Amino acid sequence: MNISVRSEKLARFSPTRLSFHAKYASVVLKTLRKPVFQRFICWMLIRERIREDAVSSVKVMAFPFRKDNEHVLAGRCSSKGEIHVYPKRLEFCRKLRQKCGREKFLSYIKNRARATLIHELLHMKYSDDEEKVRELTKKYLKTFTRHPGTPNVEEEILKMVFKH
Ligand SMILES: [Zn+2]
Repeated sequence: MNISVRSEKLARFSPTRLSFHAKYASVVLKTLRKPVFQRFICWMLIRERIREDAVSSVKVMAFPFRKDNEHVLAGRCSSKGEIHVYPKRLEFCRKLRQKCGREKFLSYIKNRARATLIHELLHMKYSDDEEKVRELTKKYLKTFTRHPGTPNVEEEILKMVFKH
C-alpha cells in the first residue's frame, strides 16, 4: 500500500499553521506506515475479502478538508480507489491538547488516522452503507488496540475518536 503526503494551499497559511500541519501529517504518516498496523490492515482486507489492488493510493493530506464552517472531513475515497486522510483543525487540536495533555492528544490523532483508513477501506466493500462501515470501523479499531505489541489506548480516547 502506497502511502504518501500531499500538501497544497501553502500560501494561505501562517507559519504557525504550516509547522503544525507538517508535524501532524508526519505523525499520521508514521502511524499508518507502522509494520504492525500494515499487517493488521492486510489481515482485515483478507478477512473482508477486499482486494488490496482496489486501493490505488493512500494520501495523507496536510490540510483539513472543510465540508462547511463547522465540520471537517476525516477521510474520503474516490471512485478510482484513492483514499485521502485529512487532519483536524489547529484550533480543535489546541483545545484538546490543553484539556488532555500531550500524550492523550497524540494517542487521539494516531487513532483517528487509523480509524479513518479502516473506515475508507471498508467503504470499498460496503460502499454507501455508512452505518455498517461505522460499526465495523469501531470493531476493527478495538481489535487493533488489543493486539499484542500495540501501545495501550484508553477507552476515553476511543470514545473521542468516534465522537469527533
Ligand atoms: Zn463513511
